[in-house]
Amino acid sequence: MSARLVLPALFGLAMAVALAGLVLRFDWLCLPALLAGWYLADLLSGLIHLALDYHPCPAGKGLDEIFFYTGSRESADYLARRAACMARLNAFQRVVFDFKTHHPRPDALGRRSLGHQITPTLVLALPAALVLDIAVVWGTGPGWTIALGTSLLLGSAFAQHFHGSLHCPVVPAHIMLLRRVGLLMTPAAHQLHHDTLQRDFATNCGWSNPLVNRLFRFLRRRGMLDDAGLEPVG
Ligand SMILES: [Zn+2]
Ligand SMILES: [Zn+2]
Repeated sequence: MSARLVLPALFGLAMAVALAGLVLRFDWLCLPALLAGWYLADLLSGLIHLALDYHPCPAGKGLDEIFFYTGSRESADYLARRAACMARLNAFQRVVFDFKTHHPRPDALGRRSLGHQITPTLVLALPAALVLDIAVVWGTGPGWTIALGTSLLLGSAFAQHFHGSLHCPVVPAHIMLLRRVGLLMTPAAHQLHHDTLQRDFATNCGWSNPLVNRLFRFLRRRGMLDDAGLEPVG
């Protein structure tokens, strides 16, 4: 198995254990707990998105050159410049830069493979899933705690996949179904974020956007979240 598949495979296995535990200990409280976990995953997507949009990229790495590159992004020149820049960044800085480039070129995220979209998230989600499994196998907590954890972890792990699907002209049937029942937001609702970059940062179902928007306005009034952080500088 290639290294790229190891994380998703382990996460899938860990979630299968959690889901089995959920089935075995299911009671009526699991239903609101599943929705609460889904809300928390949406909230997490909004808070992380807000923080990374406004967190500045490191200066002096040449990131402005590739961000504002005017030639073809498929050219050898661009690809070489981009590879050189990325080699100068650590993993966190690369994720921060990805959030900036998503705004002028949102469709690129939608074109990425599922593995590419979710692997950075799985680095954190997998250890959390293993902790949940320990609670499932050796713990004696009520079923609703497993429901909350399972829903939160699934919503968090696939957050960038859900976000990417908002920029895809054609999406799979399961995404359409989740949108239809209100468990995922629509591209029109997400466009409100891209119109101003000052609202609606949550990208799963959008239920937490009223809360995240209040937090954004609170921080802006205190002089935080400077627009300068939205684009890399030289
Ligand atoms: Zn954004
Ligand atoms: Zn977007």
